[in-house]
Amino acid sequence: MPPVNLAASPFDVVVIGAGAAGLYCAGLAGQRGLRVLVIDHAARVAEKIRISGGGRCNFTNRDVTPANFLSANPHFCRSALARHTPGHFIELLQRHRIAFHEKHKGQLFCDGSSEQVIQTLLAECATGQVVRWQPCAVHAIRHGGAGFELDTACGAVGASQLVVACGGLSIPKIGATDFGLQVARQFGHQIVETRPALVPLTFALTDWAPFSALAGLSLSARVATGNAGARGLFEDGLLFTHRGLSGPAILQISSYCTPGTPLEIDLAPGHDLAAELIEAKRSSRRTLVNELAQRLPRRLAEIWIADHSGAHQPLPALRDRDFTAIAQQLHKWLLTPSGTEGYRKAEVMRGGVDTRQLNSTSMQSTLQPGLHFIGEVVDVTGWLGGYNFQWAWSSAAACAFALQPGRRAAH
Ligand SMILES: Cc1cc2nc3c(=O)[nH]c(=O)nc-3n(C[C@H](O)[C@H](O)[C@H](O)COP(=O)(O)OP(=O)(O)OC[C@H]3O[C@@H](n4cnc5c(N)ncnc54)[C@H](O)[C@@H]3O)c2cc1C
Repeated sequence: MPPVNLAASPFDVVVIGAGAAGLYCAGLAGQRGLRVLVIDHAARVAEKIRISGGGRCNFTNRDVTPANFLSANPHFCRSALARHTPGHFIELLQRHRIAFHEKHKGQLFCDGSSEQVIQTLLAECATGQVVRWQPCAVHAIRHGGAGFELDTACGAVGASQLVVACGGLSIPKIGATDFGLQVARQFGHQIVETRPALVPLTFALTDWAPFSALAGLSLSARVATGNAGARGLFEDGLLFTHRGLSGPAILQISSYCTPGTPLEIDLAPGHDLAAELIEAKRSSRRTLVNELAQRLPRRLAEIWIADHSGAHQPLPALRDRDFTAIAQQLHKWLLTPSGTEGYRKAEVMRGGVDTRQLNSTSMQSTLQPGLHFIGEVVDVTGWLGGYNFQWAWSSAAACAFALQPGRRAAH
């Protein structure tokens, strides 16, 4: 491709990625008077918004604090989250008359569909006169001293400022790529090791064989892992699958899992099973399995004590120490995942562009002036529950307000 005449470029900024963060940043920057071009290789905009929240987009959470995010640099997200809060995005949806509701633990969902969030972002881009090239692959990026030159499938283009909003690696079949990480590496950035997060966990076939018959069963559980430095603890739904465990509590804890470290699962949170069984023995002649089935799903109770000689004996025939041992195993089930269902099923990517080389108020690279990274490509990973979109909105806004309007590339 011939060199781009950056001084004559019709754009102040090129945003790569027409997803959550890219569209939000483009709309805000365009409305500040910047001339913005958004480029995306996929045929449709914001596919992840479309499939999010079961089609209703859990677009934020009422209660957002830095403690809801994981990063090698935990303080990095503070400034952006404090300056652009859930209230800002809620106000935007209200202005567009999008109805929403709170479902569980502060999670906000559209009453209608995720498409409403996409249409809102596109309308904001239209107000900001944002130009979008899509589908359009970016073949190469150069920094010519005056700005960024891009070779794309739609021709060469350039601008003094470049925003990388290419998202993470999860769900490659709808357009996820490692392009954002490649751009970061090209400009000398470190990458914090990436792996699937908010993802179902799998276990070795032999460990899982006794439980595979429970596939489809769900219950409320408390799940913990990690050490004092990065310990996760969640109480929420847990779902047995053919290959392992899923459900909100497991998706949450998956972000904290490290290879070889066991999970501690309490299958009867809120109960003191030893005390309850010992107490029940005084007045009940139920069998052990029937008594456990008062407190746990029956299928789980049956499988859990299938090999116990007293499973079908009445409670008075059993010793207190039998109850204590069974209770201990149910309150502290220790098992070590062998893997995850991978990026095919993961909601997000952990790790990404190392925030220690980004400015936390502008998302600008400290290595390459004019280069910015926003959204999931950055090493900030939210909990399940609307936090990842909130990071997309907050990081996008921090960037959009720091971009310089009318900044032409120098000759
Ligand atoms: C099934 C599922 C459900 C989810 N539900 C929720 C939810 O309810 N709430 C929540 O908070 N989070 C949810 N998430 C996570 C959330 O979708 C992401 O964290 C969020 O979309 C990240 O925004 P982003 O703009 O950084 O990336 P994305 O929204 O993924 O956008 C990245 C864009 O970059 C484009 N791109 C990629 N590579 C290239 C390239 N080489 N060239 C040009 N363009 C490229 C992609 O096509 C895409 O349009 C969910 C994720 C999944 C997979």
